[in-house]
Amino acid sequence: MTLYYRHVLVAVDLSEQDTYVVQKARHLAQVFDAKLSIIHVLDNIPMPDTAYGTIIPLNEDSSYEMLEAVKAKLRKLGEWMAIDLERRWLVWGVPGEEIVRIARQEHVDLIMVGSHGRHGLGLLMGSTANRVLHHASCDVMAVRFPEEVERAAPLRELVQNPTG
Ligand code: AMP
Repeated sequence: MTLYYRHVLVAVDLSEQDTYVVQKARHLAQVFDAKLSIIHVLDNIPMPDTAYGTIIPLNEDSSYEMLEAVKAKLRKLGEWMAIDLERRWLVWGVPGEEIVRIARQEHVDLIMVGSHGRHGLGLLMGSTANRVLHHASCDVMAVRFPEEVERAAPLRELVQNPTG
């Protein structure tokens, strides 16, 4: 048994609220000298069906552009957090399930999520955070967003304008 965290996974929905969670995750990983991974789950871009060909064509302009924008944001965040390429996860599926799955697969011992994000605005705890909390086999930190979150503006810029 160890009292230290060795591998932290931060889940981002690429909304403004992420910036605070990401900063906290980076700091925490430094304190524990832990590995840091990042995950974004694509839950609003059609998934190509590889078994039967691309039924929902990903080369349709809108889907393609959305995917490229997401990749650019994740790349910027990954670079900013000095996360190696192989620890940046972009997967399709239900966010709560995929976050838990990747955490198990990668032997993560702390998952960090925002207490609410895109889906949970106005809730005490969002649906993804709730699902992760109930199904993860490691510790979960649900980060609340205080007023001072506004101070994370420079990083928010980075997320909003990934190519800038
Ligand atoms: P929610 O429960 O959806 O309001 O979101 C709460 C938190 O769950 C967010 O702040 C993120 O940390 C995480 N999360 C939500 N959606 C996603 C997603 N698509 N990919 C990765 N993490 C997510």
